[in-house]
Amino acid sequence: MLRGVNAQKTVRKRLPSPKKRLCKVHGKPIRPSYWLAGHRNTGCSECYRTTEVPPPRKRLCKQHGRPILRSRWWSGYRSKGCVLCFKVPPPGKRLCRKHKLPISPSTWRNGRHSTGCSRCHNSRPGYLLAKERYKKRLRKSTKARKKSR
Ligand SMILES: [Zn+2]
Ligand SMILES: [Zn+2]
Ligand SMILES: [Zn+2]
Repeated sequence: MLRGVNAQKTVRKRLPSPKKRLCKVHGKPIRPSYWLAGHRNTGCSECYRTTEVPPPRKRLCKQHGRPILRSRWWSGYRSKGCVLCFKVPPPGKRLCRKHKLPISPSTWRNGRHSTGCSRCHNSRPGYLLAKERYKKRLRKSTKARKKSR
């Protein structure tokens, strides 16, 4: 039995051996998908890992034991930066510049300290008006269609 004689022909883009596609940064083979996408200098498993955020259990804040926020992890924090690290000030000290209402805690933690109160979140006049206009247009077009038939 002839094994694998034509196997290579079916692969359109051939990969060089792992030893010939090493990452310049880590010295590990560049992942096939990266290689095929055109990466020649970086893209090994190590490169990939540094851009990933580990599961919450593996990125605990050393001070509070709570998972470090993704955005913090991304910006390079590895030992501090959980929810408790960002103490939200009392409502009176985090007022929305537009509405003079307290900014919601989650918004505050995300780094928005000037706007983002409950009214900001609920009243989006632009969006509501657009929706209204869309509804009207929809009603009109269905009527027109019925008449023409
Ligand atoms: Zn690498
Ligand atoms: Zn913390
Ligand atoms: Zn507001």
